[in-house]
Amino acid sequence: MQGLMQNAPLLISSLIEYAALYHGDREIVSKTVEGPIHRTNYRELNRRAKQVANALTRLGVKHGDRIGTLAWNGYRHMELYYGVSGIGAVLHTINPRLFPEQIEYIVNHAEDQYIFVDLTFVPLLEKLAPALKPVKGYIVMTDEAHMQKCTLPNAIAYETLIARESDELTWPVFDENTASSLCYTSGTTGNPKGVLYSHRSTVLHSFAVCMKDVLGVNSADSILVIVPLFHANAWGIPYGACMSGAKLVLPGQHLDGKSVYELLSQEKVTMTAGVPTVWLMLFGYLDQNPDAKLPDLQRVVIGGSAAPRSMIERFEKQFGASTIHAWGMTEMSPLGTTGNLLPKHAGTPFDKRIDVQVKQGRAVYGVEMKIIDDEGRELSRDGKAFGDLVVRGPWITAGYFKGEGGQILDKDNWFKTGDVATLDPDGYMQITDRSKDVIKSGGEWISSIDLENEAVGHPAVAEAAVIGIAHPKWQERPLLIVVTKKDMDVSREDLLKFLEGRVAKWWLPDDVVFVKDLPHTATGKLLKTKLRQDFKDYRFPGADAAE
Ligand code: AMP
Repeated sequence: MQGLMQNAPLLISSLIEYAALYHGDREIVSKTVEGPIHRTNYRELNRRAKQVANALTRLGVKHGDRIGTLAWNGYRHMELYYGVSGIGAVLHTINPRLFPEQIEYIVNHAEDQYIFVDLTFVPLLEKLAPALKPVKGYIVMTDEAHMQKCTLPNAIAYETLIARESDELTWPVFDENTASSLCYTSGTTGNPKGVLYSHRSTVLHSFAVCMKDVLGVNSADSILVIVPLFHANAWGIPYGACMSGAKLVLPGQHLDGKSVYELLSQEKVTMTAGVPTVWLMLFGYLDQNPDAKLPDLQRVVIGGSAAPRSMIERFEKQFGASTIHAWGMTEMSPLGTTGNLLPKHAGTPFDKRIDVQVKQGRAVYGVEMKIIDDEGRELSRDGKAFGDLVVRGPWITAGYFKGEGGQILDKDNWFKTGDVATLDPDGYMQITDRSKDVIKSGGEWISSIDLENEAVGHPAVAEAAVIGIAHPKWQERPLLIVVTKKDMDVSREDLLKFLEGRVAKWWLPDDVVFVKDLPHTATGKLLKTKLRQDFKDYRFPGADAAE
């Protein structure tokens, strides 16, 4: 027997309509690329998102067409979140930190029809534009007064484009499984792969974002969204904020300690979210300014890479703010676990409580997870056994865009995360290792394999390995370990110079060490676990000064 409830589709437009109607005056504050602070609210955001939607329709954008963005966190980017998806087009948020060649690849792969671009990234796109075949035009996210002369074909200022449009629109109703947005992962090997979210997955994920035991986003919050709108839906906050009417603070391009502190303080921020690197930069500023106070700050969401113990302790001791350690993936919308405490932890001594909080946390309702061995057998949830972490649920990918990577789920729909983890009897998950040897630098990935491949391109290099070494500012930076060819020599400086231009600047190894030979597995692969062990006490020259 079927239930007798209405089958109303879960659509992203319902989030902004709700916010406009019930939290219309709630502020959205942006530090703009042009300079000043800009203030708007949800009523206005909905109105302008409708102008964006009407403009896109006039440009001929149809249901399912992909629209790219290359932009920082700001109100215009938020308008695109709703204006694009609201009419059934697909918002493709492009990570500007990818290699130019990768950006070229994903724009062509996604077949973006138009690209909305912040002033900052116009020069980057000007270089790439001739190769971006599907793109019909570019919308520069500024007004006429700040519009620069540019060589982008069919370029128009955002404000000019929407000014001529009506703000009258009834958001169309369609199947909730319609694609809403697209985000490419920057994987370790091969080309980036597209994760295609749906309206249904996004709205369900938003409910989770607002749950007290997840991120607890609510109408009393003022949220500084450090995590980029181009990275995994900014952890779902742009949607959850509309669902709950939270004030949003969008920091633009400057994420240095001073800029972040000023926004936290001036906008009376209660919750903020970002990768550990950003908080280390904030700490650097706080060290110089011991009188700094943040009386409103309650919750700091830390994810993307492991939150160090000292970071969790400092937020609590200095500001009385609790840390929510979160783990997830682009493929998971992205929330998988959050490290909130249970009633049983009340009264737990500080150190023991931090032991719990350094773990990546408990599964969010909606995400099933387990750890398995090489044969696919489920391992014990005893906090000791570790194995491949697999997940499934309604906001977890079923396959990459255009079928790249083939069938990625097993027969029971489990998705292999690529992380190795433990699960304890209370359900807290802890990442123990990555099955891939990717290096996480400032929340972004550096492929060790790509670096190795480039290094062995040098005529004097016989073999090369790259491992991540802990870094006080960037979490991890690459160390290049090299075996030179017999009777050949190359200096550290020459090798780094050789890599310049072959890899992105921020991928360049922080140091090079020369060894006689490298450890290998039985099948001839580099044995990175052994290398990590060998170099566990290694420190980059001068790295401590960056603290
Ligand atoms: P991305 O898709 O770029 O968000 O990267 C997802 C990957 O980042 C995960 O598979 C983990 O390897 C890593 N990651 C995310 N959050 C955490 C965390 N809290 N601790 C450790 N690793 C994390």
